[in-house]
Amino acid sequence: MIPIAKPLMGEPEAEAARRAILSGWVTQGPEVAAFEREFAAFVGAPHACAVSSCTTALHLALLAVGVQPGDEVVTVSHSYIATANSVRYCGATPVFVDIDPHTFNLDPSLLEPAIGDRTRAILCVHQMGMPCDLRAILEVAARHSLPVIEDAACAIGSEILWDGNWERIGKPHGDVACFSFHPRKVISTGDGGMLTTANADWDARFRLLRQHAMSVPDRVRHGSDQVIFESYPLLGYNYRMTDIQAAVGREQLMRLPDILDQRRSLGARYRALLAELPGLGLPMEPSWARTNWQSYAVRLPRGSEQRVVMQSLLTNGVSTRRGIMCAHREAAYPRGSWSCQTGADGCDCGPETCRRLPRSEQAQDETILLPLFPHMRREQQEQVATSLRAALSG
Ligand SMILES: *Cc1c(COP(=O)(O)O)cnc(C)c1O
Repeated sequence: MIPIAKPLMGEPEAEAARRAILSGWVTQGPEVAAFEREFAAFVGAPHACAVSSCTTALHLALLAVGVQPGDEVVTVSHSYIATANSVRYCGATPVFVDIDPHTFNLDPSLLEPAIGDRTRAILCVHQMGMPCDLRAILEVAARHSLPVIEDAACAIGSEILWDGNWERIGKPHGDVACFSFHPRKVISTGDGGMLTTANADWDARFRLLRQHAMSVPDRVRHGSDQVIFESYPLLGYNYRMTDIQAAVGREQLMRLPDILDQRRSLGARYRALLAELPGLGLPMEPSWARTNWQSYAVRLPRGSEQRVVMQSLLTNGVSTRRGIMCAHREAAYPRGSWSCQTGADGCDCGPETCRRLPRSEQAQDETILLPLFPHMRREQQEQVATSLRAALSG
C-alpha cells in the first residue's frame, strides 16, 4: 500500500528526543529557544515563537492583531477547518471568499467586496504549500489598513518571488505567518506550531499568551538568584511546545533542504507521468511561486466520480484523499456562524452549499490528493499513474 504521506524521521530524531528527556528540562526550555532561532534563520524572520500547533498559532496571531468578539475576519472556507475555527475562538465571524480554481488559493479580486466596517483582519492560506497571491492581497489590505495573517501550515520551505528575489514564506510578507509541524505537513514534531513576525511587540504578546500570560517566563525565573513572584495580567493559554518536540524539530530542520529537493523532483515527475491522462487537471504553479508540494492535487476529468476513482486506486494499493474541505459545509458551521461576501444577512443559501463559493465546493468535490513523500520510489509514482489511468478509463 502506498500511503498518502509519511514523515521522514529516524535515529537523529530519536536521539534528539532522548537528549531532551535526559537533560532534565522537558518543556519550553533551551531546545525550544534554539528551535525558534534556527527556524527564524531558515525563513529569514526577525522573530519566531514556538507553540503547540498551527491552530493555537493562528489563535494567538488573531488575538495579537486585535481581533475581538463581534469582529469579522476575511478568509477562505476551502481550507482545513482549523483556519476558520481560529477566527471563531476569538468570538469573531469568518467571512468566506471564493478561491482561484487553478491555485486553490484565495482569489484576491474577491477580497475588497468582502471587507466591511467590522473587518478586523485578513487571514490568507498558502494552501497545500502553494504560495497565495500575497502581493495582491497586501495591496488590498494596505488600502483598508488591515493586518494580514498568513496560514502557512503547509508552506514550510515554499518560496515567493519578492522584488526580484526568491524569499521563503514566513519572512513574513504579511504581518504574522503561522506554521504547522503535524505529521501530515512537510516536517514534524508530532504536533507543534510556529509564529513568525517582524513586530517585536506581537512576538512578546505570543510569548506571554502561550504560557498563561505569566509575567515571568520559566527560563527567567530558573536563571535568577533573586526570588521572583509572577503575576497574570491577562487571560492566557497553555499553548507551550515541549523541549522534546523542539529537539526533534531541530533535526527535522536540518533535513528540510533535502526534503524540499525530493518533494520538488517528485512534483516534477508527477507532471511528466500524468501529463497525457485525458481530461486530468494538473496543479498550477504561478511563475512567482515555488511550492513544496505538501499535497499534490489533481482535478478529475468531467464525469468521473470522485469516490469511485478513489476506491479503484485504493483497491490497487494507492491511498488518496479527497480535495481540501470547505468549512461552511460542515455541521460545525451552521448559518449565522459565518458569512460570505455579501455579509451575514445577504446569504440565503441552504446548508452545505453557498452560491458565492462555487469554486471552493467544486475543488472539494472534483479533486483528489495523490501520495507524495520523501523517499517515494520511482516505481511507486509509476504505480500511482498507472492505477489512476486505469481508474479513469474503467
Ligand atoms: C494542518 C493545517 C492547520 C492546522 O495545523 P495544526 O498544527 O494541526 O493545528 C491549519 N491550517 C491549514 C491550512 C492546515 O493545513
